[in-house]
Amino acid sequence: MFDKIVIANRGEIALRVLRACRELGVKVVAVHSEADRDLKHVRLADESVCIGPAASSESYLNIPAIISAAEVTDAQAIHPGYGFLSENADFAEKVEQSGFVFIGPKAETIRMMGDKISAKNAMLLAGIPCVPGNNDPLSDDPKKNLKLAQEIGYPVIIKAAGGGGGRGMRTVHTEAALINAIELTKSEAGSAFGNPTVYMEKFLEDPRHIEFQVVADSHGNAIHLGERDCSMQRRHQKVVEEAPAPFITEEQRKFIGERCAKACIDIGYRGAGTFEFLYEKGEFYFIEMNTRVQVEHPVTEMVTGFDIVKEQLRIAAGEKLSITQDQVKIQGHAIECRLNAEDPRTFMPCPGVIEQFHMPGGPGIRCETHIYNGYKVPPYYDSMIGKLIAHGETRESAIARMNTALNEIIIDGIKTNIPLQHDIMTDNAFAVGGQNIHYLEKKLGIY
Ligand code: ADP
Repeated sequence: MFDKIVIANRGEIALRVLRACRELGVKVVAVHSEADRDLKHVRLADESVCIGPAASSESYLNIPAIISAAEVTDAQAIHPGYGFLSENADFAEKVEQSGFVFIGPKAETIRMMGDKISAKNAMLLAGIPCVPGNNDPLSDDPKKNLKLAQEIGYPVIIKAAGGGGGRGMRTVHTEAALINAIELTKSEAGSAFGNPTVYMEKFLEDPRHIEFQVVADSHGNAIHLGERDCSMQRRHQKVVEEAPAPFITEEQRKFIGERCAKACIDIGYRGAGTFEFLYEKGEFYFIEMNTRVQVEHPVTEMVTGFDIVKEQLRIAAGEKLSITQDQVKIQGHAIECRLNAEDPRTFMPCPGVIEQFHMPGGPGIRCETHIYNGYKVPPYYDSMIGKLIAHGETRESAIARMNTALNEIIIDGIKTNIPLQHDIMTDNAFAVGGQNIHYLEKKLGIY
C-alpha cells in the first residue's frame, strides 16, 4: 500500500477519500485553492498545499501545480475524485510520466471512453447493447444527415462526442429542425469541449437511467457490483439515486453486469468505473462509461457492504481484487439524496455561511458532507454540499428512513434543496418506483 497520496479534489469526495486513506494507514496531502483553506479534509490532512487562487482553472485544474505538490511532499499517488481532472487523460498521463501513480484507469482508457463515439464502438465490440445511431462523427453533408435521421427515426438526439455534465445535447423532433440543430450543437461543442465532433442517436422518450458499477484490477480480474437507478434528474443532472434499480430482475442484473465486467477485461480497464445505460421497454442501451468514482457510489456500498474507494487505492497499489463475483451480494435497498446549496424553487446557487448544522443519524443513515458549523460555502464551485444516504431492508424502509433523516437534518444560514428532496421522498409515484428520466422535470412543471 502507498505511504502517502495527494487528493486532487475538494468537498465531500476529498473527505471520503481521506477517510479511506485513514483506514488503510495512508498519509494524506490535501491540495486546495486559496478559497478552500477551511475545508474539513484540509484541516484533517497530514499535510496541505495551496495550489492557486479560487478559480478552478488556476487551482483544481492546474496540472503543473498539483504535480509539484506531489513532488514537494514526496507522495506516491494522486486520487482525482470526480469532476475536475478525474477524466482528463492528459492529466493521468502527466501524473504517470512524472513518476506517480494515477488512482484510476490508464490514460489511453480514459481517452477512449472520454470520446463517446469511440466508447460506443468499443462497447459494441464487447457485446454491450447501445442506443441505435450512427456511431461515427456526423458528416458535413446535410443530405446524408437527413437520410441518417430518417433511418434512425425521429426523434433523434445530436450529442457532442466530447460532451459531459449533461451538456452538449440537442433533441430533434422534425426534419425541418435537423440541420440547424446539428450546426448549433457542433459550434457549442467546439467552444465548450474544444471538440466540435457530434453524432446522432435515437432519442428514447421514456427511458430510465440505470448504471452498473464495476471494479477491475490490473491482473485481468473484473467484477460488477450491480446497478443503480439515477432517473430522478433535472437538466440531465442526477438528484436522487438508488440501488438496486426497482423492478430489475436478478437475471437482467446478471446478464448486463457480467457483460460489463467482461468488457472491462476486453478493454484492459483498471479501477472503479460505471457503465451508464438508458433502460426502456425491458432493454438496456449503453450511453457512456465514467472512468472514475461517482457521486452516487455510496448506495452501491450500502447494499453490497463493499468499500469502493478503499478498493480503488488497493488496485492502484497493484493488489488483486479483494473479492470475487460470487461474494457480491445485494442486501436491502439504499437511496441517496444530493444536498445542494441552492434555492429549492429557482435552483439558483446559494453560497454563504452555515450558521447551524445538525447531522441526522439512526439505523441505516449515512451522511457524507464536509460542512460544519461556521463553514462558509464558497461561490466558486459546484453547489453540492453533501449527500444523505439511507439503507433499509426494503425500498419502503429506506424511504421511511430518508424521510426521518430529512426531517432531522438542520442546515441553517443558506438555502438548500432539502424541501425538494422531501417532496420527492413523499411523492406517490416515487414510492411506486421505476419512474423515467423526465418524471422529476414534469413534476416540477419545467418539462
Ligand atoms: P453526460 O456525459 O453529459 O452525462 P450522457 O450521455 O451520460 O451525458 O447523458 C446524460 C443524460 O442525457 C441521460 O441520463 C439522459 O437523461 C439524457 N440522454 C442521453 N442520451 C439520450 C438518448 N439517446 N435518449 C434520451 N435521453 C438521452
